[in-house]
Amino acid sequence: MIIIVKNNGSKKQLDNLTDWIKSMGLDIHYSKGETSTVLGVIGDTSKVDIDLLRSLDIVENVTRIQEPYKKANRKFHPEDTIIDVGGNLIGGNHFHMIAGPCSVESETQIIEIAKAVKAAGATLLRGGAFKPRTSPYAFQGMRAEGIKLLLKAKAETGMPIVTEIMSISHLDSFRDVDVIQVGARNMQNFELLKELGKTDKPILLKRGFANTIEEWLMSAEYIMSEGNEKVMLCERGIRTFEPSTRNTLDLSAIPVLKELTHLPIIVDPSHASGLARLVPPLSLAAVGAGADGLIIEVHNNPSKALCDGAQSITPNQFETLANKVKTMLPLVGKEMN
Ligand code: PEP
Ligand code: MN
Repeated sequence: MIIIVKNNGSKKQLDNLTDWIKSMGLDIHYSKGETSTVLGVIGDTSKVDIDLLRSLDIVENVTRIQEPYKKANRKFHPEDTIIDVGGNLIGGNHFHMIAGPCSVESETQIIEIAKAVKAAGATLLRGGAFKPRTSPYAFQGMRAEGIKLLLKAKAETGMPIVTEIMSISHLDSFRDVDVIQVGARNMQNFELLKELGKTDKPILLKRGFANTIEEWLMSAEYIMSEGNEKVMLCERGIRTFEPSTRNTLDLSAIPVLKELTHLPIIVDPSHASGLARLVPPLSLAAVGAGADGLIIEVHNNPSKALCDGAQSITPNQFETLANKVKTMLPLVGKEMN
């Protein structure tokens, strides 16, 4: 970290600043210039409050050279993290397609979709049981009963299941869930993240719709710093000024994340676009940009879906897409599954 201090401050102000930095166990390298002095702060600066530093009268500017996240940082873990989900390896040169409905609606619905997406090449089954809906009057999901139905679909097909948690008070219902999803709306629910960090479940951490990549990685750090390093990141679109899609898929986040972190990156083109016909092209774009997998909403009857029908593709469309993805994977050095 580099702190530029003004030379017109008092000696007491400078001493207060340097004593404070040293009290945090950090060393300082001084370089005095004409109008300002550069303090090179040496050591682990991840706990330093950069905004507090910037607010000091004597401080002209502060720049971080080290990212504030450690466990998620590729600098300290150069090789890709590979997460084992029921024998499916996620990350590295593996590629996975996670598919299923937005919400579990009934036993026949989830089992029919699970069988169809498995036959088309999906390796993990998604399905919302606890649903974060914008309106309290909209379908809220089948809750714990929905998880039971997902487990039935798992028993029928052998596919591990991915489902969203909204409150740590529901954790008991997630005992047999393979991957716990943290939705966009909870990306910065730090108490939830800390508790999930104490479990040994793989976590699919979706990006908040107004969050920067660094904030997202800090949320991953919350989980990892509690001991659970099995975190996958999910880019699901961010809110921009563009109204023609539900969100804007931030494709550039994929190669940026590949530089910054070793964690697997999954892309959700369904929530990113909000429109079924945009799901195939965005999926292929995500493969091209280096994603480690896709999570796609598939419904056997999209027009009757209780949630997100407009962005759900059919099992047939999913199969066509999965075949295109397979043909693209060698170009990016990956293999299906
Ligand atoms: C979901 O995956 O069902 C969901 C609600 O997604 P997001 O949190 O990205 O909106
Ligand atoms: Mn949905």
